[in-house]
Amino acid sequence: MIMVFGSLQRVAPIPLVVFTGGEPTLFLREVLATLQHILENSDTHSRIVTNASWATSLTAARGILRSLKEAGLGELNYSVDDFHQAYVPLTHIGYAVEAALEFEIPVLLAHKSYPGSRSSRATYEALLRREIPKLEDLLPEEYGKHPLTISSGNTLPIGRGAEKVNPLGWVPPEVTEDRWRGPCNEVLKEIVIAPEGRLSPCCGLVDRSIPYFYAGSVLEQDLLELLEIANKSVLYNWLALGGPSSIMDYIISQDPSIPFLGKYVQNCQICNEIFTDARKTEVALGGLEAMAGTLSIQRCLYEAQRSLVIEKWQEQDVK
Ligand code: SF4
Repeated sequence: MIMVFGSLQRVAPIPLVVFTGGEPTLFLREVLATLQHILENSDTHSRIVTNASWATSLTAARGILRSLKEAGLGELNYSVDDFHQAYVPLTHIGYAVEAALEFEIPVLLAHKSYPGSRSSRATYEALLRREIPKLEDLLPEEYGKHPLTISSGNTLPIGRGAEKVNPLGWVPPEVTEDRWRGPCNEVLKEIVIAPEGRLSPCCGLVDRSIPYFYAGSVLEQDLLELLEIANKSVLYNWLALGGPSSIMDYIISQDPSIPFLGKYVQNCQICNEIFTDARKTEVALGGLEAMAGTLSIQRCLYEAQRSLVIEKWQEQDVK
């Protein structure tokens, strides 16, 4: 992790490093060493996303959080919902929040709901005996004023568990097509390294066994070379400029008999639908050559627009 951070630092300022999972505290020693390195060598902010399974008592929670605070950790996200609380008792969340607030580490409770979900913001407000502001209701300049916030999102029906549910029933009525159509806002923007070292296009909501979704391993190749591969990848550019809905439209245009769900919680679900289905993937990958020219032009136009934005900012600075 320190090596990867060093590679990036040589070429660009890094505003934020997020340790997420799986469960990053399973590699606590490595996380602490990396945090310490970041603290001593940069102004980079840091965050850990964890299920708080380690907070078996207030004393245990204080022990872990003291070491994280001393190593320079900036903020915590606790993953909370019915699925996590089936394995991590609510009391652990209580200890983890109390200890974090004692050490003045801001906490976001990252909650996911689904139709019929038992837990909600009220569950955690009752547990912690206080009102918890919703992150989505705050202005960006207000974030720092609240040491404890909660965010809410919808659970994506993907992966092994999704085989047991009707995915269409998990799309809330307020979720309309504009939520999942259009470019992906994450790919080629964030740099995601999977635990075994593979450079991933995004947070990894897509099945991790899909080889062409990864640019290569940072353990075998220099990160900058991998970023170059990612930026030249037609697939990544298609996701970034058209989004998974554009790939879905292409697949249907090539073979209208291929069935799609047609209704989604958000765009990652379409990615998952395409890249976990051999036939859909085959048609999508078969279209890369045909799409390369259009995507190159789109990328050029995007770059042209970017310089206009920069010029506008510079004009404002002069004024
Ligand atoms: S839409 Fe696809 S590429 Fe974008 S973040 Fe989701 S899974 Fe990743």
